[in-house]
Amino acid sequence: MKLNINDTFNKELPADPNNNNVPRQVFEACFSYVTPKTPSQPSLVHVSKEVAQLLGLSEKDWTSKDFIEVFTGAKTQEGSQPFAMCYGGHQFGHWAGQLGDGRAINLMEVLNNNQRWALQLKGAGETPYSRRADGLAVLRSSIREHLCSEAMHHLGVPTTRSLSLCLSGDEVLRDMMYDGRSAYEKGAIVCRVSPSFIRFGNFQIFASRKDKKNLEKLCDYTIRHFFPEIKNNTKNRYLDFFHAVMDRTLKMVVEWQRVGFVHGVMNTDNMSILGLTIDYGPYGWLEGYDRDWTPNTTDRQQKRYRFGNQPMIALWNLYQLANALFLLVEEAKPLEDALASYRPRLMQAKIKMMRNKLGFFTEKENDGLYIESLENTLALIETDMTIFFRLLASIDGKDQPKEALEKLQPAFYHINDLNAEVRATWINWLEKYRERIQEEGIASTLRKDKMNLVNPKYVLRNYMAQLAIDAADKGDYTLIETLYELLKKPYDEQPEMEKWFAKRPEWARHKVGCSMLSCSS
Ligand code: AMP
Ligand code: MG
Repeated sequence: MKLNINDTFNKELPADPNNNNVPRQVFEACFSYVTPKTPSQPSLVHVSKEVAQLLGLSEKDWTSKDFIEVFTGAKTQEGSQPFAMCYGGHQFGHWAGQLGDGRAINLMEVLNNNQRWALQLKGAGETPYSRRADGLAVLRSSIREHLCSEAMHHLGVPTTRSLSLCLSGDEVLRDMMYDGRSAYEKGAIVCRVSPSFIRFGNFQIFASRKDKKNLEKLCDYTIRHFFPEIKNNTKNRYLDFFHAVMDRTLKMVVEWQRVGFVHGVMNTDNMSILGLTIDYGPYGWLEGYDRDWTPNTTDRQQKRYRFGNQPMIALWNLYQLANALFLLVEEAKPLEDALASYRPRLMQAKIKMMRNKLGFFTEKENDGLYIESLENTLALIETDMTIFFRLLASIDGKDQPKEALEKLQPAFYHINDLNAEVRATWINWLEKYRERIQEEGIASTLRKDKMNLVNPKYVLRNYMAQLAIDAADKGDYTLIETLYELLKKPYDEQPEMEKWFAKRPEWARHKVGCSMLSCSS
């Protein structure tokens, strides 16, 4: 297997001189060299052929023994020098100090078709950043990461990708729900792919240690490779950099809101500096539209990372990044001004996104209020977000609100909840919807086509991933492949796949893995 290795992170940035792979604090270095743990019996579960091709690999490569060995850490690709990154972060609102790649090992950077890709194994063993944990990952969480990162990409949401999913052949002990009932699970390794895996936390760790020299090195490296549009050489470039990160972060989080994705752990160590969705852990998809929903059991009380709060948490995280960059910018005012522009820009971006979901071609001043009234109405009774927006496209300007409501019925979980009061609220909203689309006078097929480009028909519902996990646990990987293929075209009608265009089944409502997830993965 040939890969065009072109490392920059471990070549241009300071390395930890200590090669001892034991948990410790690492100062004045961006990373530590490590060797992945040798898996006892590595085997392949699934490959994303698309990602393989991005890296310049052919079918001969991804079906080779070499592939399995390299992407489980059994063998080191010639010319590569694997390492774990040092970063810090705010976890659930509190500074946690040094974190780092505790169970991620960066293998190499590959240059193909002028694109730079960093390849990183997740679950390939301990690093100096593993603290008291084992550096391993289990099959269930690896399936979830592999399928979801690819699904998000095809939905058009900025994200890291996933090349492969392998079993290590080792068993991993996990207390899945933190209730003292530990059990052995199959160990697995995902190879993630992204232009870079640098996070907000990589900058924060240096700032927290007042290590201006290394913060500057890391910023300059990041700008040079990933923000080529920033050309100025003055101190102002760090401010430009902050603006660019803010833009990308805002764009990413608005996309999450568009498709109903809840990240679940928006700690600053899980925020990519490139504005990519990263670290798929206890994430989830909104089924019933509920702004207060979070899939993460660790956050059940506070609900800090609930769906409706994600855009403001992104801002909170940007404040932390601004605090770190202040060491270089040296002036608070321009950073504060940048942060102050976030809310109005978020509002604008959100209204634009929702207009598209609603199929509006024109802008109206009170669109914001109209969208808010939709969100309130959607929350009145349990209503499936994905199904609702997809069915909304089938409403015609000629439909009376009553007929329109009829068309939307499959989105409601319990039709009995649709009492007179709720019905009246819907009729009222639909009356205005009808007026609006009549006024615009756009052909309904045209409107439908436009809406179907932003309202997915298929998303990785929580129970779908769980079904794939249950089958894979028994050695049957067909559902992983089926879902991977289905989610490659989430906006297309796929008549043979219609069964996945359905509300969450009742059995999945409170099932672990479907509605409840922990960080223990
Ligand atoms: P996460 O919540 O998954 O983003 O992880 C937070 C921190 O804990 C990161 O520094 C991870 O590398 C580390 N971590 C999580 N799980 C493990 C594990 N099984 N072994 C070692 N480190 C871990
Ligand atoms: Mg993380």
